Amino acid sequence: MTDHRRAQRGNVAGKMLLALIILAAFWGLFYWDLNIRDAGGDASDAVTDEEPGEDAPADDPDDDEPETPDEAPDDAPADVTDETGAVFSYLPVGDLLPESGPGFADDTVYRDILFPTAGRAYLNSQVYRYGGYYGALNGMEGGQCEAQNYEYPWQDTFCEKRSRDQDLCPGGGHEGLDIRPADCTKNAHLAVAAEDARVVDVRRHWVTLQTNDGTLYNYLHLNMGALNVSLGDYVSKGDPIGVISNDFYKSDGTSVPTTIHLHFEMYENYVTDGDDEPLFTKVNPYLTLVAAYDRKLRDE
Ligand SMILES: [Zn+2]
Repeated sequence: MTDHRRAQRGNVAGKMLLALIILAAFWGLFYWDLNIRDAGGDASDAVTDEEPGEDAPADDPDDDEPETPDEAPDDAPADVTDETGAVFSYLPVGDLLPESGPGFADDTVYRDILFPTAGRAYLNSQVYRYGGYYGALNGMEGGQCEAQNYEYPWQDTFCEKRSRDQDLCPGGGHEGLDIRPADCTKNAHLAVAAEDARVVDVRRHWVTLQTNDGTLYNYLHLNMGALNVSLGDYVSKGDPIGVISNDFYKSDGTSVPTTIHLHFEMYENYVTDGDDEPLFTKVNPYLTLVAAYDRKLRDE
């Protein structure tokens, strides 16, 4: 091969190399552009932000689906756990135990309250579960200290079947919610003020608080011989009211102890129909308490 031909070949090779470099540069730009677009947000952003064109068929959004479409969105609240590591869960409002009454599915969170007991708490039936008079109806035979009474999920007990009348419970029902403390120990767990309030009544096994704007809270079954408050006291949110016990006195003063729990009631102005006069009555505080407990576990 002559030097001339070698030079010619070198020339051709150089031109091919240059062409390859230019091609590679175009490909590089193309992919860089795609990557910038994809990195611009999550998959749903990519669908809406993408300009329609050959590279991003707007008529075929399936192409832009995330690889794991069932994954929870990033802003979904994470599970919250108590200090034992147990994940807090609760059954829907109005979802009562079988045989225990109709319930009342009120989905209102009435007020931003502090959860009314210190420590862990378990909302469930005192009458239709272990240790309750009608526990056997649901195959829950045993004492009130059974471990299953101290587990999540919570269960609503508002309008649980009783002989008493109540405005929102047709045929009579339980006009509050029952809260078991962290464990089955009497006189060991504090009940605390849900809001800044005044102690407006102390009688039998009741302590009643009232806020400035009228909301009433009843705390029942505290140890009435060792309350932290007296009639007329002003309390701040979080102040101790007393210890959770099983005090229950009939109107003639006879003591008939109940299970160890706080029965918690809340009175609000409630309207069943837009045209009705507001009814100042006991309302179902279930979701108000769920929200308060969730905040408590998150230290908010
Ligand atoms: Zn109760």
